[in-house]
Amino acid sequence: MSVLSRILDPHAEETPIERAERLNGALRDAPAEEILRFAIEDEFPGRVGVVSSFGAEAAVLLALVADIDPATPVLFLETGKHFKETARHRDDLIERLGLADVRLLRPRALEVAAEDPEGDLWARDPDACCALRKTRPLSFALEGFDAWITGRKRFQTESRLSLSVVETDADGRIKLNPLANWSPDDLDAFLFARGLPKHPLVAEGYLSIGCEPCTTRTAPGEGARAGRWRGLDKDECGIHFTPDGRIVRTSASAGAE
Ligand code: SF4
Repeated sequence: MSVLSRILDPHAEETPIERAERLNGALRDAPAEEILRFAIEDEFPGRVGVVSSFGAEAAVLLALVADIDPATPVLFLETGKHFKETARHRDDLIERLGLADVRLLRPRALEVAAEDPEGDLWARDPDACCALRKTRPLSFALEGFDAWITGRKRFQTESRLSLSVVETDADGRIKLNPLANWSPDDLDAFLFARGLPKHPLVAEGYLSIGCEPCTTRTAPGEGARAGRWRGLDKDECGIHFTPDGRIVRTSASAGAE
């Protein structure tokens, strides 16, 4: 039985978690290209988006998506706190890959004025800052989708070691992580073969790139995301939730990239 025929077997009474488990069983060892084609063309046509930070190796996932349909919606959290290099990298990849529907998700101005009038919430309460600038805008944008795709990989953090290829979010949407199995060498080989760039700050010692105030360089031997929220008990933006609504900080799962 092929991967697709197993997946397409209807299970009308499934809960979202049961559906995710079934899809994960069928897709967990499938090539990323096959997972993405299944999601974009077969299972969620017009109802699936990619969430990308346009970070270190974001070009990999975006190129694979563009190979299938460059009009697939790509959601970028425009927090207002990114490095200027991120905007340049984003615009470069949009042009190189022909991405036709990149959406910039911004926090609501009234909420920013009320909750972070001085722009320093990241220093006082980073969870509240991520909720304002990432979690809520993304949650609002995802209302139009049945599924979303991230570029997370297991090797990135301890909390991602058990990352499933298919899981659910707090609202019962399917979340796909087609690069979960990829290693740093896999990513490098793909980028080399396709002639695609990493984020320009990788060359300056940043292995994972988020908002500028919360990102530092990574020392040799440190994990890929060690430079994110350095010194804090925090390694996720809070945009990844368990089905009961908890922000993921544990092995239960866990950023866009
Ligand atoms: S990563 Fe930092 S600056 Fe960006 S939203 Fe989170 S706390 Fe705010």
